[in-house]
Amino acid sequence: DKDLIRSVDRIMTHADRVRKLLVRTNADTPTDTQRALEFGAEGIGLCRTEHMFLGDRRPYVERLILSPEGSKERQDALDALEPLQKGDFKEMLKIMDGKHMTVRLIDPPLHEFLPDLVTLEVKDAVTRAKGETPSEADLHMLAAVRRMHEANPMLGLRGVRLGIYLPGLFKMQMRALVEAACELKADGMDPQPEIMVPLIGSIRELQIVRDEAEDVIKTTQEKFGVKFDIPVGCMIELPRAAMTAETIAKEADFFSFGTNDLTQTTWGFSRDDVEGVFFPQYIEAGIFGVSPFESIDTHGVGRVVAEGVKRGRSTKPEMPMGVCGEHGGDPISIHFFHRVGLNYVSCSPFRVPVARLEAGRAAVEEKAWDDSATDGLDKTA
Ligand code: PEP
Ligand code: MG
Repeated sequence: DKDLIRSVDRIMTHADRVRKLLVRTNADTPTDTQRALEFGAEGIGLCRTEHMFLGDRRPYVERLILSPEGSKERQDALDALEPLQKGDFKEMLKIMDGKHMTVRLIDPPLHEFLPDLVTLEVKDAVTRAKGETPSEADLHMLAAVRRMHEANPMLGLRGVRLGIYLPGLFKMQMRALVEAACELKADGMDPQPEIMVPLIGSIRELQIVRDEAEDVIKTTQEKFGVKFDIPVGCMIELPRAAMTAETIAKEADFFSFGTNDLTQTTWGFSRDDVEGVFFPQYIEAGIFGVSPFESIDTHGVGRVVAEGVKRGRSTKPEMPMGVCGEHGGDPISIHFFHRVGLNYVSCSPFRVPVARLEAGRAAVEEKAWDDSATDGLDKTA
């Protein structure tokens, strides 16, 4: 009823007034972007780009991955994808006019983009069993997929590693983004894109992509006769990145903690098996509450985040830092992020109101950051 709506509005207004954390959203479609804005999102903290390569674009990606470096097939695939990618970004930048939009360079689970090895093996075996000879194309495909096959794809050729392995891929995405933004800028709009590099573990990885980004930004802005800042930052989602954040910060304009991967790599539990068969016993034994992926400060993953923040800020005290893993929309975790001094949380559109409210509550309940930021952690562990 009207009274209820009015009191909710009043609470939200108060929360927005007092909170220190900005609330951004994870969105990668125009629909989600629009929805998140209606829920009060102040920007896009994570635009994942993987899904943009599925559907009828998937064959291009397959060709890109499986054809040899420097080949015409690879270049043709990149050339076909670039205008499509540019269209994706332009549409979202238009909706986000005047607000930050952090675009993460592709971080695909590669096995989802490659043909299934077992299916190819079976096809090959059936062909041979019939006494036929497999075609050249089939043999080539089988050899390529065998070569790319990994036992642990989530710990393999992902994120920045793929970008370095396939020269031209990140550059294509960055050119698409920067061109889309420059066109809008030239039309009098106020695009605010940011480039985010996933799965960084070493400063060299970031340097390599950053050099490319700076080159793309300079060339494209000159071409369009516009000039505006496009920050280049990275995700912190590996313990190594958090523990060397003072070095990585030298090449980063911002950090975004990816707590999904950070939980996976800190605990060594697969995020794709969050219902592990051993979980009931672990829960019963009190090793964790519901899962290791629950609130961030409960199991020590928060300590890794806190360390990353401290180390990063020791190099760049003012560097913007946020979180874009699922924990960005989790109430208990939001209080933790407030306490460690992040600048923003980014969460799915439907969680934006919860995040605004909890960020407000965290500000009201503010306590000085001390050891209790790891509440619940067995301090002798
Ligand atoms: C993360 O790892 O927390 C993250 C936001 O990236 P993704 O979930 O896409 O791996
Ligand atoms: Mg991740």
